[in-house]
This record gives sequence, structure tokens and C-alpha cells, in this order.
Amino acid sequence: MSEDARRAELVSALGRVRARIADACAAAGRRTTDVTLVVVTKTYPADDVRRLAGIGVRDVGEARLPELRDKRAALAGDEAVTRLRWHAIGRLQRNKARATARLADTVHSVDDPRLVPVLARGAADAAEDGAAGPLGCFVQVSLDGDPERGGVRADALLPLCEAVATAEGLALLGLMAVAPLGADPDRAFARLRELSDEVVAAHPSATAVSAGMSGDLEQAVRHGATHLRVGAAVLGPRPPLG
Ligand SMILES: *Cc1c(COP(=O)(O)O)cnc(C)c1O
Repeated sequence: MSEDARRAELVSALGRVRARIADACAAAGRRTTDVTLVVVTKTYPADDVRRLAGIGVRDVGEARLPELRDKRAALAGDEAVTRLRWHAIGRLQRNKARATARLADTVHSVDDPRLVPVLARGAADAAEDGAAGPLGCFVQVSLDGDPERGGVRADALLPLCEAVATAEGLALLGLMAVAPLGADPDRAFARLRELSDEVVAAHPSATAVSAGMSGDLEQAVRHGATHLRVGAAVLGPRPPLG
């Protein structure tokens, strides 16, 4: 596909997603400015990230460290790209967490207290590289208790939030979750909202909620999501994992 055709395709898909978000916000009595669209670029080429930056996207999400590293390197020096915020949304392995924290502006998937000191070291690396602020962190909570899919169990949520909030160089932004497979996303995100209320009671500034993907962003907005992680609805069918 030509550069112009791909760009036009992204412009129209992004417009459709923004319209869905606007409709969902209107239905929920919320302002669109309170919802951040993170376009999940995992498995799509670096050129798509560059095109997105050129058509007004500010936030992109990557799931795996090698891809995050390669894309940042490939796009270094591109003017529009330098304004992007990079979100790490995939499961964090402890041996990759430090490098991830160094390269990302925000991490969505903190789900184990053993990650906290490692992320703090990566945040210190980033500060030495010139990063302006702390590393924004979402604690990922499991809504189905299935450890295979990531997320801390609800009964261990508050101690993990406390560990993130008190770690040097990390800022607790709020909670992240993925709706359980086959479950009603409305119920899942309603539960997430309750857990978020508990976290905010202990950490008043941790009001962010990362929830909602291509298929369930309306339900997420209805239940207070502030960050939507949307891939396929913007970028089209996902290329297979390499
Ligand atoms: C891939 C991914 C998304 C985006 O999913 P789409 O269905 O492409 O919108 C969101 N969140 C996480 C954690 C992901 O891994």
C-alpha cells in the first residue's frame, strides 16, 4: 500500500474511534478531554507509529521490550515522534523491567511487588538520561484471579499500590485491567471501578483507570476509564506476532 493510502486509512479509522469515544463520553456525561486514547502499535511497523504521530496521536502502547526498543531507535530524531508518550502495556518480566522503565513514559502492568525496586532502578536510569518526571505506573489488577493473564489478585492490591506510591522515582497513577475472556465487560469494569474507589481512598491522586480495548471501549468509558488501549480498531487486523 502507498504511503498516502495507508495514511488516509489511519486518518479515517482514528476518526471512527474518536467518534466512538465521543459518543460514549456523551452517553456517560463525561468530557472527552478526561479520556486518553493510547493507540496500541504492538506488531505494527515503526512507520505506522510515525504516521500516527503525524496525524495527531500523542500516546502509543507497546507490549514487548524488543519492539519498544527497536521502534524508539528507528524513529529517534523524527520531530513529531519526539512528542509521543510511550506506554508499556504488556506483562513485565523482572529481567526486562528495568530496561522497559528506562524507555517508557508510563507502565500499565505492574502486578508484582518484586517489580517495584527494579522499575525504580529503570526510572533512575531514565532520570539520568534526562527524563523530566517520575515514571507513571498503573497497577494491573486481575478481575478473574487467573494468574496466567497477569494482574495482582484483588486481595493483594492495596499493599502493591502502597509499594509503588512510596517508591523513589515512581508515581502511582491508578489501576489497569483487562476484561476477562468471555465475561461481560460491563460487569468487569464495574468491579474495576469499585477497586479503583478503594485505591483512591488510600491514594487520592491515583484516579486514573486504564481499561477498554477495541471491542469494549464503550463499556470502559461508561465505568470511568481514563485511558483506553486501542489497537486493531485504529490500525486494522494485527500482523501476526513475529
Ligand atoms: C493488544 C492489547 C490491547 C489492544 O487490543 P486491541 O483489541 O487491538 O484493541 C490492549 N491492551 C493490552 C494489554 C494489549 O495487550
